[in-house]
Amino acid sequence: MRRHRNAKIVATLGPASSTPEMIRSLFEAGADVFRLNFSHGTHEDHRKRYDIIRAVEKATGRPIGVLADLQGPKLRLGTFSEGRVQLATGDRFGLDLQGGPGTPQRVSMPHPEIFRALSPGVQLLLDDGKVRLEVESCDGESALTRVIVGGPLSDRKGVSVVGAILPLSPLTPKDRADLAYALDLGVDWVALSFVQRPEDVAELRAITGDRVGIVSKLEKPSAVENLKAIVDLSDAVMVARGDLGVEMPPEEVPPIQRRIVRACREAGKPSIVATQMLESMIGVPTPTRAEASDVASAIYHGADAVMLSAESASGQFPLEAVSMMDRIISVAENDRGYYRPMNDAARPAPAATVADAICAGIREATRLLPVAAVVTYTTSGYSSLRASRERPAAPILSMATSDRTARRLTLAWGLHSVEVPQIASVEEMGAYACETAIREGFAAKGDTIVVAAGAPVGVSGTTNALKILAV
Ligand code: PGA
Ligand code: MN
Repeated sequence: MRRHRNAKIVATLGPASSTPEMIRSLFEAGADVFRLNFSHGTHEDHRKRYDIIRAVEKATGRPIGVLADLQGPKLRLGTFSEGRVQLATGDRFGLDLQGGPGTPQRVSMPHPEIFRALSPGVQLLLDDGKVRLEVESCDGESALTRVIVGGPLSDRKGVSVVGAILPLSPLTPKDRADLAYALDLGVDWVALSFVQRPEDVAELRAITGDRVGIVSKLEKPSAVENLKAIVDLSDAVMVARGDLGVEMPPEEVPPIQRRIVRACREAGKPSIVATQMLESMIGVPTPTRAEASDVASAIYHGADAVMLSAESASGQFPLEAVSMMDRIISVAENDRGYYRPMNDAARPAPAATVADAICAGIREATRLLPVAAVVTYTTSGYSSLRASRERPAAPILSMATSDRTARRLTLAWGLHSVEVPQIASVEEMGAYACETAIREGFAAKGDTIVVAAGAPVGVSGTTNALKILAV
């Protein structure tokens, strides 16, 4: 079973997509990676979905990536005695650590570290930016604010401090428990929410080592300022436009999305564009034209993957949303006069390494010859990711020597990932590449394939040959 597109689809699972039939249908309709969102549901819910995904893998013979998304340090207000209050623009409103139910005059904000980061003039955004407060005075344990934009406020709404780097660990006690659970399940990727600094990624890496790939979610302005350092420490990056668009005005999000996708391509790490991509499909079976255009834009800019959140997790049309995304990607990628030149213009220079010299050769070969497939052989995943970075003009058949690597690579642009046994010699590898290209539906007898190889076979960093073979 092969797909006829390069960019990948990440589909979030939730109450609307938890049965074996639905998960299998989503996979067949185009979902390459499934996201388990640890902001919702119980461990048991996630385990059931995880087991179903692995059963679909077995039934279809295709590796499937699983991404566990940790909630992260989302700051929240306390509760109100009446459940909600109405704040009018110009009112004064107090925040403190006293606990107890809130009133129209004050509410508890049970995060001492936020109070220490406040000073007069600092603004706070509540409930995804719907309500805005400005600090007039504060003493490290409480703050008196002026309501700049009023509105209703109810129990446990989210809070963000505009422009501040808060001294918070990126992993709350809940995240640590969720992480341990997810690692135990055997997920392929872990997503870290509200990354503020490169050190946050390092903190997660110290726990996981290379057991999983790390996806850093860029949803704070401070993370965007540290973009390169964060990309360098991560294995992939998510443009988390929902929370990113809270502290930042909406018009800032498109150029930031472009910068992030670009930085990932430069580094050879997969990028995921996420949130509200087909938002209206939560309730209706067709997207708005603007949404279709948004997905296509991410593809034109070279994103590795696009993501569905509530559309597939809790909406009424999860299957239609995945199919729609599949079609939008395919049509955009077939827009040759535009799509190819875009990709060429955004091509980062190869690094001065043997691996990149081989990959540059691969790219050139696929432009000169009618190549049916590029075949890479990888232990760590590195060789396949470098080939993907070159955006060759033929599909890349990535042969990985472990199920872990094969699953992780399902996120990357243009890779058709398969797991293969250890191969002993470069000759055997050529024969195996031809056989696999036929079996996976990429080549027929007589077709040309391009194989990146090296000896000793299967040792990272030994790729030093490019073979052009007739199948
Ligand atoms: P979330 O992250 O769905 O976990 O909030 C994505 C985003 O903020 O866009
Ligand atoms: Mn978010």
